[in-house]
Amino acid sequence: MRERAVPGEGSATALVVIIGEGPGRREAETGRPFVGRAGRLLDELLRHAGLSRDEVYITNVIKDRAATSTVPARDRPPSRSEVAACLPWLHAQLDLIDPLIVVTLGRHSLEALLPGARIGDVHGRPQRQSALVILPLYHPSYALHNPSVRPMLFRDVGALRKLAAGARGA
Ligand code: URA
Repeated sequence: MRERAVPGEGSATALVVIIGEGPGRREAETGRPFVGRAGRLLDELLRHAGLSRDEVYITNVIKDRAATSTVPARDRPPSRSEVAACLPWLHAQLDLIDPLIVVTLGRHSLEALLPGARIGDVHGRPQRQSALVILPLYHPSYALHNPSVRPMLFRDVGALRKLAAGARGA
């Protein structure tokens, strides 16, 4: 059974696009990205970066999760075929919005933008791709499950604060 699609929300002219993994239960119920516990932490992280939800665009690699097995879809990582089906939509969103900064949350989002990069090596370190800067961060859900990751995540968001301030001034 397919759940409600969660395409993303925010400013169509955002300088910053945030990309998570895929909708969870609350997101599938509401059709909005990051509205559950991970979303509340994401809101805190955005505030720490001097940003609000209204000025960024928030989306996911996977726009919905088809429950194809007995495991509830949202309790497993996205499959290759789900990623392959959804990636063209993500690239179309990035082409339309044309941001200066893309923040990837977690390893699946990182893999979609920078295949082969390892989150443990690159988190918090801006990766330049011509005019675009990609900032890999750990996923807020990971920090919720591993409280020791939380301070590192907030430290890494310091890089977003600087990048966003620079982009605003550009
Ligand atoms: N986790 C994600 O990766 N995306 C959401 O929208 C919510 C939780």
